[in-house]
Amino acid sequence: MALTFRGGIHHEEEILTANLPLKEMPSPDFVTLPLSGHGADVARPLVAVGDRVLKGQKIADGEGNVAPIHASISGTVSAIGTYPTPSGEEECIVLQNDFKEELSPEVAPFDTPIGKTEPEALIRHIREKGIVGLGGTGFPTWAKLEEAQGKATRLIVNCAECEPFLTGIHRLLLEKTEEVVGGVKILMRAAGVEKAVFALEDDKEDAADAILKLVRGSQNFAVAVLKTKYPQGDERQLVRALLRKEIPKDALPTSVGAVVFNAETCWSVYRAFVSGMPSITRLLTVSGDCVKEPSNLLIPMGTSFRAVLDFCGGFSTKPDKLLSGGPMMGHALWSTAVPVTKKVGGILAITSPLYKASPCIHCGRCVKACPLQLIPSELYRSVEKGDMNNARFYDIEQCNDCGCCTYVCPARIPILQNIRVGKEILAKKRT
Ligand code: SF4
Ligand code: SF4
Repeated sequence: MALTFRGGIHHEEEILTANLPLKEMPSPDFVTLPLSGHGADVARPLVAVGDRVLKGQKIADGEGNVAPIHASISGTVSAIGTYPTPSGEEECIVLQNDFKEELSPEVAPFDTPIGKTEPEALIRHIREKGIVGLGGTGFPTWAKLEEAQGKATRLIVNCAECEPFLTGIHRLLLEKTEEVVGGVKILMRAAGVEKAVFALEDDKEDAADAILKLVRGSQNFAVAVLKTKYPQGDERQLVRALLRKEIPKDALPTSVGAVVFNAETCWSVYRAFVSGMPSITRLLTVSGDCVKEPSNLLIPMGTSFRAVLDFCGGFSTKPDKLLSGGPMMGHALWSTAVPVTKKVGGILAITSPLYKASPCIHCGRCVKACPLQLIPSELYRSVEKGDMNNARFYDIEQCNDCGCCTYVCPARIPILQNIRVGKEILAKKRT
């Protein structure tokens, strides 16, 4: 029987793109590259307006949790300033394309065999290539590796893609299997871990077979099949389902001996070593009933949503909702004039019936669905009343934004929306 966790939901499948091979989008007229990292730190530009830059060249760097930023096209720095992004207003570098695709000399294969390289040197290279988690959080991969050393005994490859509509990871696993497995091997050496398990949902059997073909017979690798359920891709649920262990509140997977990397991150690591290409490509599913040609794409980082949607034929009908990400955890956007960043894995344009919320009927469905065993009805009520002490008492900050509570609520109460407001209020109070 497929492994799983308590709570969560099984949503109606909305898969328009599962059988569509990955397509490389040609580079756009310009790209907008945000300078912010994970948290509040921001990278410093290493270039000035008017400078010529080459594809793969490092154009900004910083300290702490900031990853170096690299040019995803060759061209000229046309502006440095504040621009709208899917995460709000951010400092960005804008590059105008010269369409010469000229590669920076920094883009070169790693020059020593991985097996003979010290883990610290591997970690330094991963940082230098700007690799962060591509599962949505943008957490620095080098920081995760440093944290894993000496604590983790098992690496989990998160191949779960549980949000409706999103299929890019599934295609990546089918089409770039060797590269993903190659990246996993590099990460294992960097983390000092001897065992890796690929975790996939049971609707991706073909991808599980493709991986098994490469790792069958090895004591170091396993493929685990999980029940197709949302939010299976959440690290806590993944660890719960696979290891039957609970990550303590405010702790990391290393507290139970595991380190988790998203499959696309593993692919980026492979490219960073084999060709020396930094993290300048984004895997993206563009989908929804309003998109003329739904697609799985590989696009230059920083391409605008508008250019991506144009490449997909534009809208067939005017969408009611434009989302950055999937329908469960994605953020609504009011404009297509924002760039695709390292935190964006999907673009959805959908028509959605307009529901009116009615009062809570105390059915308890939200409580049953919450994979973290929170009491969502209590959380949204506390935020509505402005009682942040109560919200905190009920652990609002533990909420992972999965949206299961909102999905199951028969009263159509925007529970997650309220919870997000509450978390923002508490975050502001802390700063
Ligand atoms: S309260 Fe948070 S974690 Fe629980 S179901 Fe709602 S969104 Fe998910
Ligand atoms: S699911 Fe909706 S109606 Fe039911 S208890 Fe939760 S908030 Fe109330």
